[in-house]
Amino acid sequence: MHPFSYTRVDSVREALAAGRRGGRYIAGGTTLVDLMRETVETPDTLVDISALPLSEITATAGGGIRIGALVPMSAATADPKLNALFPVAAQALRGASAQLRNMATIGGNIMQRTRCTYFRDVGADCNKREPGSGCAAINGYNRGHAILGGSDHCVATHASDFAVALTALEATVHLQAPDGKERSLPFGDFLLRPGSTPHREQAIRQGELITAVEIRAYPRPLKSAYLKLRDRQSYSFGLASAAVALHIRGGVIREAKVAAGGVATVPWKLPAVERALIGERPSDGLWAEAASHATDGARPLQHNRFKVELLKRTVERQLRTVGEME
Ligand code: SF4
Repeated sequence: MHPFSYTRVDSVREALAAGRRGGRYIAGGTTLVDLMRETVETPDTLVDISALPLSEITATAGGGIRIGALVPMSAATADPKLNALFPVAAQALRGASAQLRNMATIGGNIMQRTRCTYFRDVGADCNKREPGSGCAAINGYNRGHAILGGSDHCVATHASDFAVALTALEATVHLQAPDGKERSLPFGDFLLRPGSTPHREQAIRQGELITAVEIRAYPRPLKSAYLKLRDRQSYSFGLASAAVALHIRGGVIREAKVAAGGVATVPWKLPAVERALIGERPSDGLWAEAASHATDGARPLQHNRFKVELLKRTVERQLRTVGEME
C-alpha cells in the first residue's frame, strides 16, 4: 500500500482547511480503503471527517427531506420520514449488504467508484484509473457494463442504487468549498458521463465537501418503489434497476419520475418514459409502451445485449407495481 498520513478533524472548518491542502476525505471508507489496498487509489493524506456534525436527517418545508452527508446508510434506511415520503430512496439503500450499510455514509455512497473489474486491476488498461491508457472492457469481457451513456473511452456502469433514486426524484447535492462558500447542484449535474475524461466522475472541486443531499417537496404526493435485478440476492451489483415514482389522481397519471441503474455510465433518467406516462390512464398496454422507451439510444456491447430486454422488462414491471399500489 502507498504510504499515507492520517488526520482526524472535529469541525467543518478544520476539514475544509485540510481539503485545501490536498487531503482526501474519508468517512466509512468502504470504497476508498479497498482501492488503496489494491493501489488503485494512492492518496498521500487522509482526512477523517467521520466526527463532523453532518449526520442528521431533517424534514424541509412542505414535505421534503435533507440527509446529512455522514448519515450511515443503515440509519437512512430506518428513518421513518424517508420511508414515508420517498420509499424508493430507502429501498434503494437496502440494496447493499448489511455490513456495508452500517459502515458506508450517504456522501460516500454517491462518491463510490465503478465496479468495473479492469478498473480494479492495476495491470489492465483503464482510462478511468490512468487517463490515456485505453479501455480493456470495450473489447474485453463486458457483461456488466453500460448500454447507455458510454463513450469510446469508458463504458463502466455507476454502482450506486441510491443515486438512481436521487436521479429519479431530481434531488440536490449541497457542497461547501474550502473558502467556506456553499453551493448546490442538481443531482443530474453532479455525476458526469465519461466522454473523453472518464477519470472525472463528479462535478466536485478540489477540497469541496459534500454536506447533504436534499429531496425536494412535491406538491403532489408520490407513490414510489425501487426494483433491482442481479445475479444473486445479496453481495452483488445490479444488472438492471428501476426507480419509479408516480402521482395518479382521478385515474390519470399526473406526475412520473423514472430512472434506471446498472445499465448506464451514470444513473439514467428516463424522460421519454415519463412523457409517455403523463396524462394517460394506467393499463398493461401503457406500462409496456412507456417502458419500450427505456432503451432509446442504447448501444449494447458484445456480452451485454441481454440488458436491452432486461431493462425494458425491469421498467415495465416496476411501473406496474407502483401504478397498482393502493
Ligand atoms: Fe476503465 Fe471504464 Fe474501461 Fe472499465 S470501462 S476499463 S473503468 S475505462
